[in-house]
Amino acid sequence: MGEHAVVIVGAGFGGVGVAIELRRAGFDDITLLDAAPELGGTWYWNTYPGAACDVPSHLYSYSFATRRDWSRICSPQDEIITYLRDVARDHGIDELVEPNTEVVACAWDSDDACWTVTSRDGRTWSAAAIVLATGQLNQPAIPQFESTFAGHSFHSARWDHAYDLRGKHVAVVGTGASAVQFVPEVAEQAARLTVFQRTGNWFLPRENHLYPALVKAAIEHVPGLQAYRRRFIYNYGETLTAAIRHPDSPWGKFLAWRSAMFMRSQLTDPEIRRKAWPDYTFGCKRVLFSSAYLPALQRPNVELVTEPIERLSDAGVVTDDGRERAVDCVIWGTGFHTSRFMFPMEISGTGGASLRDAWAISGPRAHKGVVVPGFPSMFIVYGPNTNTSGGSIIFYEETQAGYIRQALDEVRRRGAAAIDVRPEVAAASDAALQARFAGTAWTRCDSWYRDESGRIITNWPGYMREYGAALRDLDPSDFTFVPQPSRTTVPA
Ligand code: NAP
Repeated sequence: MGEHAVVIVGAGFGGVGVAIELRRAGFDDITLLDAAPELGGTWYWNTYPGAACDVPSHLYSYSFATRRDWSRICSPQDEIITYLRDVARDHGIDELVEPNTEVVACAWDSDDACWTVTSRDGRTWSAAAIVLATGQLNQPAIPQFESTFAGHSFHSARWDHAYDLRGKHVAVVGTGASAVQFVPEVAEQAARLTVFQRTGNWFLPRENHLYPALVKAAIEHVPGLQAYRRRFIYNYGETLTAAIRHPDSPWGKFLAWRSAMFMRSQLTDPEIRRKAWPDYTFGCKRVLFSSAYLPALQRPNVELVTEPIERLSDAGVVTDDGRERAVDCVIWGTGFHTSRFMFPMEISGTGGASLRDAWAISGPRAHKGVVVPGFPSMFIVYGPNTNTSGGSIIFYEETQAGYIRQALDEVRRRGAAAIDVRPEVAAASDAALQARFAGTAWTRCDSWYRDESGRIITNWPGYMREYGAALRDLDPSDFTFVPQPSRTTVPA
């Protein structure tokens, strides 16, 4: 183990970003472990037809590796993963990735003041610090309906490209950000598509044409234009957050009206409009950007079903009204186990305390979304309360990378072994953070942002700029420092 050995679990945008930041600061002994056969994180796993980011690429990219030649406003999956691979290669991070390595445990050893990281196949790594960069959206969730279904099925984040949808009767369960991207594509291919919706969504337009050659050339060649675009999209994201933070303000009401007008213009069939219409405050769940999904629902080969699913029979999907719809294939667009974060990994900190047990009692929480008391030099990327509803998660992850770098710099400067946030500091910051949700749209419905108790555990309650400011300068007085273990020589 090197003096500053850092093990990063997860080689998506978050993990790669931390590795780049730490290497720049002279932390050379870094390993990234990832369960997938290659780096990429969510962009490795999500290859469903139509997969793209609905955050424009001029913002959904690292600030230190901006590009001028994105093909579209919102890039498709292959362009994004190619970008991430390129950045990782340019910074020598690709060579640090151990693929096919599923981490099952991380244990802090107080005597040796270091972490032991264990993979499913029994390999271990020693580390002075660990970074858990597995994110919030890494474990596909499939509802546990009673089922005797004999047909084919798969989750949207594990798309079965070998399965030919042409001519098939297909059911899609779920109508979130993933489904609205692949439903229009599936509707084109399948003979018949039945979409099972539990809750309607609010929509804003997203045409996502290719950049016209002239615009692309201007962005590439006019000095400052690309930086201006990035800043413009950043500010646009902040205005969306403003509407969600203040749903009763004139701006919040205006954006809800704008969404309603757009949906009304798209949903010309009154029956489908009635079914698809959301029954909660604009912005409470993720606002979806698509100009293709609602028209797809009105195709003659598509049916939108809002009756709850009761079970899966041998032949298809049975709803509460007793009706069975026979299908060849069920596609689960049912999202992720967001509240599990890095679990089922076993993580034990000082005195063997289990993170799972701690969070089972308190709910997932971390100071600034990154550090947890009693887990020295353990850092979380895209952890509790760091999700964004109106911005780029890469901004948040870069901000966290800078904070982690400062923490490890401080450990190095003091010649300490590790850094541990003070419990009272973490408790105070969590209370302040939770108080900021009062009055926001996020509190006005049930969503994957909340745990069973109703506590909002995934989202940051404010703006990107506020998160950036909160993590810009690490305050060493927020932390205690674990001394290097004393090495006593046992006489022979
Ligand atoms: P999701 O937003 O959690 O949507 C899951 C869908 O499945 C919802 O419509 C949900 O209904 C439904 N569902 C869940 N359990 C169900 C059940 N038992 N019966 C019936 N329906 C059920 O998941 P996702 O679409 O995969 O997206 C997850 C997140 O990934 C997004 O919120 C976003 O942050 C991210 N994402 C981003 C992009 C992008 O372009 N930036 C694209 C895709 C995904 P309810 O609404 O009633 O819960």
